[in-house]
Amino acid sequence: MSIACRHAGDRQVTKVDVKVGHLRQVVPTALEFAFELVAHGTPVEGAELELEAVPAAGLCRTCGEGTPLPELPLLCRRCGSFDVEVTQGEELLVDSLELENEMATSGEVSV
Ligand SMILES: [Zn+2]
Repeated sequence: MSIACRHAGDRQVTKVDVKVGHLRQVVPTALEFAFELVAHGTPVEGAELELEAVPAAGLCRTCGEGTPLPELPLLCRRCGSFDVEVTQGEELLVDSLELENEMATSGEVSV
């Protein structure tokens, strides 16, 4: 969340999009609570938190195929090998920010 503050400068942030990998096992309510704590007193305070779930996927080292990893344990759906390299699903990052000023310029224009 410190990343969010640095990019925002002194402008009010209205919305924060966060990518949350499936393997992070994040409880949305817990993350929202933590967000409110770190956002307090910063331009991010009061911003809407939008969580985007990223499904887990990997690359099997045994058969070389890409495989979805919908649940634990992580194993290749094709050959059943456990030797799988996780390629996505471990994310926990701020994807984008909506700033108050940008909303004003790119917002609806009455004709
Ligand atoms: Zn495999």
